[in-house]
Amino acid sequence: MALLRRDPIPDVIRALRAELDGGPRALIPPELEVLGGLVHAREERARSPDEPVRELLAALPDAAALVDQVGKIRVANALFEALAPSGRATGLTPLEVTRSGELDEGVRRALEGTGRAVDVEIPGVRRAFRAQVAPLLRGEVLVLLHDVTEARRAAAARRDLVANASHELRTPVAAISAAAETLLAGALEDPAEARRFVEMVARHAERLTRLTRDLLDLSRIESGAWPMQLGRVELAPLARTVLELLAGKAASRRIDLRCEVSEGLAAVADPRALEQVLVNLVDNAVKHTPDGRAVAIRAEEGDGRVVLSVVDEGPGIERHHLPRIFERFYRVDPGRSRDQGGTGLGLAIVKHLVQAQHGEIGVESGSGGSRFWVRLKRAT
Ligand code: ADP
Repeated sequence: MALLRRDPIPDVIRALRAELDGGPRALIPPELEVLGGLVHAREERARSPDEPVRELLAALPDAAALVDQVGKIRVANALFEALAPSGRATGLTPLEVTRSGELDEGVRRALEGTGRAVDVEIPGVRRAFRAQVAPLLRGEVLVLLHDVTEARRAAAARRDLVANASHELRTPVAAISAAAETLLAGALEDPAEARRFVEMVARHAERLTRLTRDLLDLSRIESGAWPMQLGRVELAPLARTVLELLAGKAASRRIDLRCEVSEGLAAVADPRALEQVLVNLVDNAVKHTPDGRAVAIRAEEGDGRVVLSVVDEGPGIERHHLPRIFERFYRVDPGRSRDQGGTGLGLAIVKHLVQAQHGEIGVESGSGGSRFWVRLKRAT
């Protein structure tokens, strides 16, 4: 008769019980150790059946949730939970979380088996999403919300820019065409008339040049094609260079240009970009300052920063314009700006250049004049 091997399990159970009662450590055969591990893993999974799904949803870059057969959210990732007014989406319906009828309809259809993509606006968080709603095998539905708020905003800004730029370009182009037609129709034969129309062509061509130059500058700064080389920039020599550039224009209107920048003060900046910023600001200041008054560049330091200011004695800017003054093509007085050769892009360029140098820009204005300031990191 074959010798039966004794079953080790009852002994192991007995030894483990004794160990748990305070006895010596039980010896467990390797196969039983493996078995114990597997049983433990199975129990863990039974305790939290959503864990693998939770892990998957957490790894997604979008707000994501799993909706059960009765339309309630069973599992959601943190981005989705954050959309709920209470901060907790699990247990609610997608409608309760997002207040979006379109998403609710999409989920209902998906529960019936048809997936689709819908646009969802969530007023509570002021964001727009492209939602993918997909039926899954077990009758559940996966909801993915891709945030398109910034993309929509950028597209709207691009549309606005194209519309505004076309509008700005149309006037000089129309004026040049009209002048050319008049010349061809006979004005060429009359020297005085011919001169008048050629001057008109020259004036509007110059305007076109300025507009296209400013538009190109803006797009180069925004697209990063104007790479900033940040380094130590001495402010007093820079301010003097800028004031020299505008000295002729100021002198023709007896405007006193003052440099009130201490020697040795330096900022972390790109020299070309900072020069452009100051040229635009001083040019504006001179344009708006009455004949015989003064414009100054000042600098103050403190808190590891320097604040450069361009101060004028102009009429100031009414309060309600200030929040929009740095927008492209925003003008306080459109007729006057165009007459003075303004493109409406000067301050937009200034703002972008300052931000590209990690600086801040602002304006204070009252009846005694305006102060445009630029805050930059101080260089030691
Ligand atoms: P523009 O080319 O028309 O001057 P900007 O972007 O430089 O465009 O300026 C935007 C608007 O802000 C303009 O309408 C201009 O009148 C106003 N502005 C700019 N600087 C000053 C200033 N120093 N004083 C008064 N108004 C100003």
